[in-house]
Amino acid sequence: MKILVTGSAGFLAYHLLQTLLSEGHFVVGIDNMVSGLEKNTSDLLKEYPKTFRFIKADIIEMTTQNISHKKEWSKYLSLDSTASSHMKKFERIYHLACPASPPIYQNDMLHTADTCYTGSRNIFELALIHEARILIASTSEIYGDPEVHPQPEEYRGNVNTVGPRSCYDEGKRLMETLGYIYHTQKGLDIRTARIFNTYGPRMNPFDGRVLTNFISQALRGENLTVFGDGTQTRSFCYVSDLIDGLNRLMDSNIIEPINLGAHNEISIIELAQKTIQLIDKKLKIKHKRLPIDDPKMRHPHTSRAEKLLGWNAQVSLDEGLKMMIQDFKKE
Ligand code: UDP
Repeated sequence: MKILVTGSAGFLAYHLLQTLLSEGHFVVGIDNMVSGLEKNTSDLLKEYPKTFRFIKADIIEMTTQNISHKKEWSKYLSLDSTASSHMKKFERIYHLACPASPPIYQNDMLHTADTCYTGSRNIFELALIHEARILIASTSEIYGDPEVHPQPEEYRGNVNTVGPRSCYDEGKRLMETLGYIYHTQKGLDIRTARIFNTYGPRMNPFDGRVLTNFISQALRGENLTVFGDGTQTRSFCYVSDLIDGLNRLMDSNIIEPINLGAHNEISIIELAQKTIQLIDKKLKIKHKRLPIDDPKMRHPHTSRAEKLLGWNAQVSLDEGLKMMIQDFKKE
């Protein structure tokens, strides 16, 4: 198959691309490199020189008109009657583009909101032209600071429209809405994954997220920064489980959004203690100010994924953390 992946230099995309390319698909990746890692792309280009192509570009700019005017873009993205085999239609699109780490997506809030709206619209239009099935990466952030626990897909959320997280939370909510509009009014063949916290090798060590911070700090022999009192909770899904869930969803005929996440809810202070146990028992915890609107708890309800996709996260937090620590030690 010919497949397009937006946000291709990101951590999730790296693992997804490894799966797709090893299965023999031809994949075109797009990334603007705001939060992706150069190494993810260069390693894949080296490993799959014949079947992987990369376009450095911002999806916000990728209108149908711009695509047809730019040679480098139209070569892989346009449908042209003189098309070579590489230029045939995309059958599938994984739309993952958008920084997901709070410090990074808050760096340029307008750009984040625009990526979710204008960028998604551009990619939805492209999907219509190619008659491709598209899977969009939504997020547990659409539930905001949830008042229902664990969070089922029916829960409509508790999001602050005017706070530092709203560019991402409301942006992703609007992306889901756009997906609904394109599906109901234009027939777009869409799948929506609501991705909960995911971790593993190849995360950007500087993305400011909790596990990248904790592991990087501990490996440098620094104390671990816990925001607030650390009683807030998260559930952490290992990346291989998540990719399996995404692919099952892509292969399915399920149009409604599906939660993908693990059942290992843990407080952030316990997570810090666990990291200290695994890396260096002499380290201590240093408390820092809790960011505004930081969700107090998060745990996915996954019965929909279990029932409709036969999916459940398999890798335990201890196993996953050990694999991620090994990977970070190499860098
Ligand atoms: N956090 C922390 N120390 C850090 C980074 C994050 O205590 O160095 C906390 C953060 O306040 C949040 C949780 O860890 O409660 C998860 O944060 P992350 O940025 O990884 O993702 P989120 O789920 O908030 O999007």
